[in-house]
Amino acid sequence: MPYVADTIAKLKRSSPAELEFYQAVEEVLTSLRPLLDKDQKYKKHNIIERIVEPERQIIFRVPWIDDKGHVQVNKGYRIEYNSAIGPYKGGLRFHPSVYSGIIKFLGFEQIFKNSLTGLAIGGGKGGSDFDPKGKSDNEIMRFCQSFMNELYRHIGPTTDVPAGDIGVGGREIGYMFGQYKRLTGNYDGVLTGKKLNWGGSLARTEATGYGAVYFAQNMLQARGDSLEGKTCVVSGAGNVAIYTIQKLYQLGAKPVTCSDSRGMIYDERGIDLALLKQLKEVEGASLEKYVEHHHDAVYTPVSAYPAGRNHVWSVPCQAAFPSATQNELSEADADVLLNNGCICISEGANMPSTPAAVEKFLKAGICYGPGKAANAGGVATSQLEMAQNASMQQWTFEEVDAKLQGIMHGIFTRASETAAEFGQPTNLVLGANIAGFRKVADAMIDQGVV
Ligand code: NDP
Repeated sequence: MPYVADTIAKLKRSSPAELEFYQAVEEVLTSLRPLLDKDQKYKKHNIIERIVEPERQIIFRVPWIDDKGHVQVNKGYRIEYNSAIGPYKGGLRFHPSVYSGIIKFLGFEQIFKNSLTGLAIGGGKGGSDFDPKGKSDNEIMRFCQSFMNELYRHIGPTTDVPAGDIGVGGREIGYMFGQYKRLTGNYDGVLTGKKLNWGGSLARTEATGYGAVYFAQNMLQARGDSLEGKTCVVSGAGNVAIYTIQKLYQLGAKPVTCSDSRGMIYDERGIDLALLKQLKEVEGASLEKYVEHHHDAVYTPVSAYPAGRNHVWSVPCQAAFPSATQNELSEADADVLLNNGCICISEGANMPSTPAAVEKFLKAGICYGPGKAANAGGVATSQLEMAQNASMQQWTFEEVDAKLQGIMHGIFTRASETAAEFGQPTNLVLGANIAGFRKVADAMIDQGVV
């Protein structure tokens, strides 16, 4: 596949040392091969070279003052990747690991994810290497205001609409929205993930986790199976993990694990959701505290994980929901999951499985829902928030949830029908990448060389 190697070689020269970005590009381009062979128009219009290059990248200084009066500086990013089918849309991540390679991989994935939803949204992503952990509310507010002092000139309800991601929830969106409003005087739907009393959508908080479970349900139903009675493992303890666990219980499954950056919990009787919410959403505490309330549960710190592995995936299960971060599930983890009888993986996180792990899942022929399909419920519901803001309406939880279920079913159908069209009916990586790409690429051709 010379075009894959050629493209990666060019990117390594033009965008050095962006490893996660190369990984995401390679995965997408590899699975586009049957489409590119079948239809020469994409090569003729040089779509590959154009689509891997962001339309615009904004990198800026974010100075702020901590509680001790010291001046701190972080780096801010917004990458407006592709607007062929709609305004740029994608979250903001605040985490010390953030650098241009992370934001670019996320932005690139977002193009195809947003296209797959069937909605009119382009791809973008942003964030900062700011670490919200251990910061006071006032420090978070000052950082968010400084971040928005630059970002506001690049975003708008019909141009670029950021949302949350790791480290960015309702509180951070609130501080950024307040500053945007102060700077522009506009009260408009320029950010999603807003709180309910000032423009947010019901079910947006739950949407990514719920959506990943609905996606698993669709995959299993297509094989005459269901989630009911299944033991499930979940990684993460943030927004996506919590609402994945909630929906799993609602559908009669038993989630037995969760994890954070310091360790994991295995609770054989099922994760205590109320306690998890109290620890993570209210106290911002370590999961280690979970076992103070449940003596039968087991806490394993990251330092005790088997070498090169994530211990969450050692727990026997029938279904797994990676919901923390990228590359958290390795080839060795995939082997353990498969040997233990896992038949379904639905990715709430972005690119959580390494390419070698994905290869194992595809080879085994189990239900495998890649992140760009399985976690698209979050961005889809963000678009529903934009629609409510634009029409000055607020829909009920049930209305939004019903639309989310319809959207997840649509994504599954689009990915699986496209996979079947190219002769690999169970390969949803291929189906999701081709279906997502084709819509954007055709729009780019229609709109000329811009
Ligand atoms: P949160 O910040 O709410 O939670 C992230 C969780 O993952 C936390 O438990 C955190 O641990 C853990 N975590 C983060 N980084 C690491 C790491 N390097 N190693 C181990 N654990 C880690 O984020 P979200 O739940 O919103 O996002 C989780 C994933 O889902 C990300 O990949 C994100 O891109 C993806 N996603 C999120 C969407 C959304 O709507 N929020 C939409 C689509 C995808 P700790 O508590 O210790 O920090």
